[in-house]
Amino acid sequence: MAFSDPQSTDLIELPDDAPIQLFDLKTQQALIRPALEQRWIDILDHGRFIGGPEVTECEAKLAEVTGATDVVAVGSGTQALVMPLLAMGIAEGDAVFIPGFTYNATANAVLLSGGYPVIVDIDPATFNMDPADLVRKIETVKAEGKLTPRAIMPVDLYGLPADYSAIQAVADAHDLRVIADGAQAFGGKDQGRWVGNIAEITATSFYPTKSLGGYGDGGAILCQDKDFAERMRSIRWHGTGDNRKESVRVGINGRCDSIQCAVVLEKLTLFDAERARRIAAAAVYHERLSGKIDLQVALDGQENGYGLYTVRVPNRDNVRAKLSEAGIPSGIYYDMAIHQMPAFAHLAEPGSLPNCEAAADVSLSLPMHPYLSEGQIHKVCDTLLAAIEA
Ligand SMILES: *Cc1c(COP(=O)(O)O)cnc(C)c1O
Repeated sequence: MAFSDPQSTDLIELPDDAPIQLFDLKTQQALIRPALEQRWIDILDHGRFIGGPEVTECEAKLAEVTGATDVVAVGSGTQALVMPLLAMGIAEGDAVFIPGFTYNATANAVLLSGGYPVIVDIDPATFNMDPADLVRKIETVKAEGKLTPRAIMPVDLYGLPADYSAIQAVADAHDLRVIADGAQAFGGKDQGRWVGNIAEITATSFYPTKSLGGYGDGGAILCQDKDFAERMRSIRWHGTGDNRKESVRVGINGRCDSIQCAVVLEKLTLFDAERARRIAAAAVYHERLSGKIDLQVALDGQENGYGLYTVRVPNRDNVRAKLSEAGIPSGIYYDMAIHQMPAFAHLAEPGSLPNCEAAADVSLSLPMHPYLSEGQIHKVCDTLLAAIEA
C-alpha cells in the first residue's frame, strides 16, 4: 500500500511483507552508496582524514539547511554538549538545569564540564522539560544559595522540540544560557524554525540511528553567534589558536573526521524526502492510535522530527511480547529516569520526579524510519491495538 503524500514518492517504500524494523539503515545506504563510495575515494586520494574539505562543506550545508548562523562539526553528540559548557566557563558550583528523562549523555556532559546537573521534571504529554518545574527548581537553587544557576539544557526527546518559547522566557528572566540537546531532533521544527535555529546553541548527534546519522560517531554544534563558533573551533583542537599548536584555553580533541562529514553530506541529499516520509508514517500512526493510546503531544507550531515514534502503554512488557511474537521490534528509551541510575542517584531523591519515573515505566518506541510502507504501519497498529485490548 503506497503513501498518498506526493513528496514521498521519490523514496523506496518497502513491500508490505518485508520484515518490519525499528530503524532501516540498509535501504537508505543503497540510495547513497555510489556517491558515498566516490566521496571516500576522494578522501583516500587527498589524504586529509582530519580537517579535510568535507568538514567545511558539511558545516556550511548544515547551516544552510537549518538557518543556523554557524555550525561546528565535532566528534560526537556528547562532545557537542560538553564543549559549549566549557566555552561558557561552567565550573564547580554552577547549576545547569536538565530534564530527568533523557539519555544519560545529557547528565554526563554537565558533570564532565564540572557543573552540577539540577534535574527538572517533564511534562508527561510531551516527554520534555516542564517549564513550570524549571521555575520551581531555579527558585529553590537560588533560595538555597549553594549553587549558581548558569544554564538550561532542554532535550528535544524523540524529535520533538522542547517548549523553547517558555524556556527562553525563564532563561531571560534569570539571565541563564540555553543549550539545546537536539541529539534526537534533527529535522524537528518550532514556529517554522529548524532545530539548530531555535535556541542560541544546539547540540546534535550523528550516531548512526539518529534522524541524521553518520557511519560512526559524530555530532555538531549549531549556534547563532560566529564568535562563539570560533571559540568552539579552538576548543575542538585542544584549545589552540590559529597556529593549532599553542593552547590559548583548555580544550579537547573534539574533531569530526572527514569521512563522517562525507556520510552526513550524502545523507543530507535525502533528508527532506526522508523527513516527509517520517511525518507521513507518523500521520498514519496518529490516525490509527489517537484516542486509543497516549501519544506524544506537540505544542502549537511545533513539528516533531520523529527520530523515534513513542507512545505510552501501561502494560508495556505484555505489549512488547505480543509485538515481538508478530515479528515487530520495539524499543524502550528509557526504562530508567536519570536519577534512577547509580551514577546520578545523588542528584535527586527517589520519587521526587514523578513524571520522569512514570515515563520510564510506560514509554514504548514503535518502528519509525522513512522506508516503512503504509501497510507495515497498519500491521504494527493492528498488533498493538489488539495487545492493548487483550
Ligand atoms: C544520542 C544522544 C546524545 C549523545 O550523542 P552521542 O553522539 O552518542 O554522543 C545526547 N543526548 C541525547 C538526548 C541523545 O539521544
